Amino acid sequence: MDARPGTYALLLRARFGGRIQIGRCGSLAVRPGWYVYIGSAFGPGGLRARLRHHCRLAERPHWHIDYLRRAAAPEFVWYSHDPQHREHGWAESVGRLDSAQVPLPGFGASDCDCRSHLFFFPHPPCLSVFRRQIHAVVPGHARIASAALAHTGSDSMDDASGEY
Ligand SMILES: [Zn+2]
Repeated sequence: MDARPGTYALLLRARFGGRIQIGRCGSLAVRPGWYVYIGSAFGPGGLRARLRHHCRLAERPHWHIDYLRRAAAPEFVWYSHDPQHREHGWAESVGRLDSAQVPLPGFGASDCDCRSHLFFFPHPPCLSVFRRQIHAVVPGHARIASAALAHTGSDSMDDASGEY
């Protein structure tokens, strides 16, 4: 991805179970598996700056995802430089993928009507199915690509220290 704006789905892997507080959204029982967080980046630096943020641990968590980031590491991102804000449609579509679960209603969705912008999967969800769903609902949607991410910082739970 580059510095243009766009919409993205961050695929994070949690290797340990545990419980973390997600700001004022509530307490999340983290399970080993995959978390998919849907967001958009229309500010300065676009997608590239936002992904850089997600790949580091935030010293002072601001977004809900910054809290989850302490327990799960971003491994992949699905993204599109489509010029429209697509995150709510993406969230709905990710929620329709096989075995999607809503681990904490309201996560990342303080400012919209979506049930959640975070979903849990026991196994990584399938990009080609997601793509098909999006292009069926939004004809003319820009290309959706995928990239592997290198992250820094611990992805182990505090109570699992010693594993890393
Ligand atoms: Zn939404």
